[in-house]
Amino acid sequence: MPDAERILVIIPAAGSGTRFGGDVPKQFLPLGGKPLMQRVVERFLFDPVVTRVVVPVADMLLDAVKSSPGDRVQFVAGGATRLQSVTRGLEAAGDDFDLVAVHDAVRPFFSLDTFHATLDAARTHGAAFPGIPLPDTVHLIADDAIASTLDRSVLVAAQTPQCFRVDVLREIIERAAREDADATDEAGLAAKYGHRVQLVRGDSMNFKITRPEDLVMAERIYAEWGGEGDA
Ligand code: C5P
Repeated sequence: MPDAERILVIIPAAGSGTRFGGDVPKQFLPLGGKPLMQRVVERFLFDPVVTRVVVPVADMLLDAVKSSPGDRVQFVAGGATRLQSVTRGLEAAGDDFDLVAVHDAVRPFFSLDTFHATLDAARTHGAAFPGIPLPDTVHLIADDAIASTLDRSVLVAAQTPQCFRVDVLREIIERAAREDADATDEAGLAAKYGHRVQLVRGDSMNFKITRPEDLVMAERIYAEWGGEGDA
């Protein structure tokens, strides 16, 4: 990393995460005895290149999590959508950053190597994301039957951390707000608005915990890894 480069990490965690079932949003479910979100925050804090971590959370949780998070972590109130939560995070952190990474609170096993490769690509190209090839064949479905089959060789599944030069992220966020557009990830939005979003090789371990069985798998992996990156 260049000297004195300032790197911000935003971890949107303000969703209600109800797809998982149960009352607890999935980013607060425990992994190795600590909430997933905390595991992810600690893994970023373990990395000396990270200047600050901003975590947008639901309003009602703000007081509970705010107490003494440390000087590199900042909790802020999230918004009504993921993109609005990222926007609030960026606004709260201010302008004094060179690169911004946006990472899902439910991907605890991202590798620092992939993170750094994505930052490097964002520094060069303006925006970058880790992606992995799809192991399964993907079909378009109509009326509960295959309408056509997609060419798997040109598809990737997008992961995070997705990295941006701060001016690029700010521009796409402002444009999305003006156009009242939403997106499930910021990389896709940057591409939609004409930016080159460089693909970096992702890692199948960096999976998103979305179903109960993912959490079972995550506990096993966590036990095997011995909590590497714990703060
Ligand atoms: O619901 P979904 O899985 O698409 O949410 C993606 C991420 O965005 C989750 O980490 C969730 O907590 C976050 N989010 C947010 N603010 C919202 C909605 C979702 O920070 N209003």
